[in-house]
Amino acid sequence: MSIIGLDSRTDPNKILPMTYKWARQHYKDGVANNWTPEEISMQKDVEQWKSDKAISETERRMILWNLGFFSTAESLTANNIVLTVYKHVTNPESRQYLLRQAYEEAVHTDTFIYCCDSLGLDPDYIYSMYETIPSIKEKDDYVVGLTKSIMDPNFEIKSKKDIEVFLHDLVGYYVIMEGIFFYAGFAMMLALKRQNKMVGIGEQFEYIMRDESIHLAFGCDLINTIKEENEGVWTPDLQKKITDLIVTAVDQEKKYAFDACPNGLLGINPQQFCEYVEYIADRRLERIGLEKLYGTENPFPWMSQAVDLSKEKNFFETRVTEYQTAGSLDWD
Ligand code: FE
Ligand code: MN
Repeated sequence: MSIIGLDSRTDPNKILPMTYKWARQHYKDGVANNWTPEEISMQKDVEQWKSDKAISETERRMILWNLGFFSTAESLTANNIVLTVYKHVTNPESRQYLLRQAYEEAVHTDTFIYCCDSLGLDPDYIYSMYETIPSIKEKDDYVVGLTKSIMDPNFEIKSKKDIEVFLHDLVGYYVIMEGIFFYAGFAMMLALKRQNKMVGIGEQFEYIMRDESIHLAFGCDLINTIKEENEGVWTPDLQKKITDLIVTAVDQEKKYAFDACPNGLLGINPQQFCEYVEYIADRRLERIGLEKLYGTENPFPWMSQAVDLSKEKNFFETRVTEYQTAGSLDWD
């Protein structure tokens, strides 16, 4: 038995007894974190967005860049999960998680519809930013390029070489897209929220980040399981290749941070967003058993707490809906 490849041909309908308890746990954690964007009021955000003084030009640009990146990145991720990963990972408890993840990506897509509607943004502008803004396009093109092997309808996992290709592309989806390319934006939007600006969107970004931290955890567990079950695939050569991919992603994410927020935010310079990206990249490298590269300290310790937030606290003043019933997350 293995999670992918020739001897993974278990019955995908037979979820019991389970082999991969971690997949089940990620499913339960996802369900415990259930939320929808409409539960979060945009009233104050709308007032601030429409006033001349509340939000500066620098902040406006930063918000638009992040809405532009995330609005399309969420569907890109959803498509990847459903069209490629789901196809090749036939293990039933892993598929149960992938279905949950796909649903969460739909919620995230919904969040950006809600933001566009509430703020009265031009959807043509926001939804074409991934083509018109070079620093956004570069990230999306990179992920699409990195994952084109398994997008090929003829791709099958038969040989060691195929497993290497699959691992490479999983790193593209999970570690690079969800684990690195999302995080400068998370830090910016949460930094803004800490200044009491655009708190509705900020809260939505907090919930998205909490979901994404589970997506990433699932992706890394999947990658590590494939490595363990297929001796000899995690060659020094592949490790080097993957490390290099991550270095390129870090450079692109820094470029994006400078482009979205060239002057920094009150009390934060753009260099600190770059340090945060390096810090995050080291954590991702370690999580998949690679050597860390940067040794950068976390410039934003408050980012880790944001992942742990409980629904009760956040919704105290709006309505009492407490879905959170199980474990919290302790890595960012
Ligand atoms: Fe997402
Ligand atoms: Mn995701």
